[in-house]
Amino acid sequence: AETWSQVPLAPPDSIFKLSAAYKDDTFPNKVNLGVGAYRDDDNKPWVLPVVKKATKILLEDPNLDHEYLPITGLPSYTTAAAKLILGEDSPAIASGRVSSAQTISGTGANHLGALFLSRFYQFNGDKKVYLSDPTWVNHFAIFRNVGIDPLTYPYYDPKTIGLAFGAFLDTLKSLPERSAVLLHACAHNPTGVDPSREQWGQICDVFLAKGHYAFFDCAYQGFASGDLDNDAWAVREFVRREVPLLVCQSFAKNAGLYGERVGALHIVAPTVETAGRVKSQLSVLTRSEISNPPAYGARIVSLILNNPELFDEWKRDIKTMAGRIIQMRKELYKLLTEELKTPGNWDHIINQIGMFSFTGISPDQSQALVEKAHVYLTQNGRISMAGLNSHNVRYFAESLDRAVR
Ligand code: PMP
Repeated sequence: AETWSQVPLAPPDSIFKLSAAYKDDTFPNKVNLGVGAYRDDDNKPWVLPVVKKATKILLEDPNLDHEYLPITGLPSYTTAAAKLILGEDSPAIASGRVSSAQTISGTGANHLGALFLSRFYQFNGDKKVYLSDPTWVNHFAIFRNVGIDPLTYPYYDPKTIGLAFGAFLDTLKSLPERSAVLLHACAHNPTGVDPSREQWGQICDVFLAKGHYAFFDCAYQGFASGDLDNDAWAVREFVRREVPLLVCQSFAKNAGLYGERVGALHIVAPTVETAGRVKSQLSVLTRSEISNPPAYGARIVSLILNNPELFDEWKRDIKTMAGRIIQMRKELYKLLTEELKTPGNWDHIINQIGMFSFTGISPDQSQALVEKAHVYLTQNGRISMAGLNSHNVRYFAESLDRAVR
């Protein structure tokens, strides 16, 4: 047979396909609510002012070279990144129990974390991970790639367009002991629905009682509330209560460094000695896959995290992004409820958190929005709030109103 004749044609990635269709559309009022990338009020990608400053400093450094980074990454970056998510005064950092590795953004962190689990986690039976239903679709492929079977736990309740907390908690209780469970640290993708602190506390109780392993994915620190510490609360609470865990971290969204692929994996170990062994294996795994990570984005983030002035400026930039998104939620809500009197309850638009919102509309209604109104969104009714702005929010509200009537 012809070489590769057995290779099946894979469908294109649905999000990237949606972006391509949007790009080809010549309708002047088209709206792209598909991809999760921040846009300013003029629908333009936003290079954070602090990133521009850090880039300037970096490029003016007469000692800048292009040597390889260490296998586990730029130490000034990984150390500061660990503090950012785990907290300046983290007990795990203070006791030297955190093993960090620089990764190819959040996707690479998920991959390395999954690969590490596949190699070294003492699974209770077959290799399985439990993902929220729904979740970022790439989670399924990432775990399958390393031989871990992805299963789901109830998370979202379409009836309330909110958290299916009872079913979620009951499922956690019914899983075998020491199950690996993926949790979104904040700003759940795709629903925008996060547990409250009280609910996180109860989730943590079950993790401790059952000995579950928490695989935290944190792709949106700062994007949920506009405050970095606030958005890291759940992770820090789990660390404080000594749940065994790892955290996948991404600077794609909160630093607007999507294409630079800046991420990290942090594994919190029970002892310093264990952390050393864990780190040695992260190094071995990374060596065979990417040899060593890319330097450019990590150098920029390292400058921002380690310079108090730049760090403060970054926090202001994050507030600008999160604030604009929160403002769009309010405006959309107001248009739907007060002006258009759109049928149904829209409270979830303002209650949901972060970049995404689950509108609760049906796949047919989503399809109609794409085909009739040139509003691009995924079939599941998820919209990226960052695609809305003062110029198009009214057009979107009116189109949504029409689609659900
Ligand atoms: N996890 C989740 C939940 C995400 O939404 C994303 C971004 N879409 C990622 C991880 C990884 O993104 P990146 O690799 O660009 O950091």
